[in-house]
Amino acid sequence: MADGAAGLIKRVGGLAPAARDGGRALHRPLLLLWAIGQAVQGRSEHRWSTVRDVLVPLLTAYAGAPARAQSVVYPFWALRNNHLWEVAEVEGLRLTSGGRRPTLTTLNEADPLAGLPKNDFDLLSRDTELAARITGSVILRFFDPLPAGLLDAVGLTELLVGRVDTSLRPRVGEPFTNRDTIADAHGGNRVLGITPLADGILTAYSDDQGPYADKRIDGTDWIAYTGDGLSGDQQMRGGNKSMQRYRTEQRALRYWHKPHRGQWTFQTWAVIVDCHRRWGRGEDGQMRREYAWVLAPVASPLHQDWPQPILDALREDDGRVHDHTQDTPLDETEGAEVLSGRERYRRLSAAAGRTASRRSARSHRTEVERYFRSPAARQAVILRSGGTCENPRCLGHPEELTDAGAPILEVDHVNDLGNGGGDIPETMIALCPNCHALKTRGRSRRELQAALLNVARERHRVFIEDML
Ligand SMILES: [Zn+2]
Repeated sequence: MADGAAGLIKRVGGLAPAARDGGRALHRPLLLLWAIGQAVQGRSEHRWSTVRDVLVPLLTAYAGAPARAQSVVYPFWALRNNHLWEVAEVEGLRLTSGGRRPTLTTLNEADPLAGLPKNDFDLLSRDTELAARITGSVILRFFDPLPAGLLDAVGLTELLVGRVDTSLRPRVGEPFTNRDTIADAHGGNRVLGITPLADGILTAYSDDQGPYADKRIDGTDWIAYTGDGLSGDQQMRGGNKSMQRYRTEQRALRYWHKPHRGQWTFQTWAVIVDCHRRWGRGEDGQMRREYAWVLAPVASPLHQDWPQPILDALREDDGRVHDHTQDTPLDETEGAEVLSGRERYRRLSAAAGRTASRRSARSHRTEVERYFRSPAARQAVILRSGGTCENPRCLGHPEELTDAGAPILEVDHVNDLGNGGGDIPETMIALCPNCHALKTRGRSRRELQAALLNVARERHRVFIEDML
């Protein structure tokens, strides 16, 4: 193919082995790595018998294939479909009854020559930087964590050792004026929020000017990244499906960010350590269910370089989507105003209780849990407070409102110990910033916390019982 380096990157990026029981079929990526290793050493054409004898142990060791010549027939034939491999004199080969590939016997008899397409060989044998970049992306996508001995086995040690990640492009920190300039330089879709670049590695774009800004989760540098889908309930398809796949396969993706009026920057590599389903507002202004992917930034996309807390977080992740959308019956658009304040409080409390009972035991990822804590419980406590600090000894609550017209209140657990306290209104309280600071950092915070817990329980009881 005469589509140059960009075309080669795209064809390699499009290599997507079928999922099989127990993992993916890595036959074609392995043949490709070996062929590139040969190209870098100036060898362009190979007899079937050579490929067969070299690939059998490789496929056995790194793709879990049976140790027999038949295992090599599939990649030897199928990599042609990706336009990354050519076999000479194919007309003379007898095909299997299904016509899908040649028989082993005919390959052994004809022993045809094969190799990378001529133009690709020329590019790779001349441009080691390109060769490193392409093989780096293949290793990241299919062979990370890197199995011992693989680079040696495919003849890529000299090219790649210690630079699998640094050979990838673009580099972290690189700015781009807009999505078009990214696509012109590195391929990929120009519009979608979650989509791979030409090299096949997933990218998540985060635009502060978009309908929803992605946020750093308090107390961590992790990012709550809103999934794919502008309006209506988001679905587990398209970009969200790709995110879930990266999450379960524990692969690093590229996280791009664009501040208000700023440029797009490839900000960091990140791994997905969690996913929550929560209420949000779509581009059309309506409430909808959306996915929030929890991204943990990592300095390198390679497993071997990840710090222990990230590895712990990945190990603790159960791969499920934590649904927080069953606890918000309160929707301003559905005539909630006609309900009395107490009826709304009762419903919110009940909804928060349902969510709290489903929640698993707290781990050191408490901050993430807190971030995604029940909006119903929070709404209930705000409602109960009547817009004023619930500390009976409050020295004065600011009367000013926020831009949104809301009172300046902080809703929190009374005993803020991450000790398994659920997100339920009877153990939560609305405080002005002063009282919140006293409760958290004041010298007499323990007495205050005990007093506030009684206040919360009593007010909750009154709110519920007065209705009956
Ligand atoms: Zn106060």
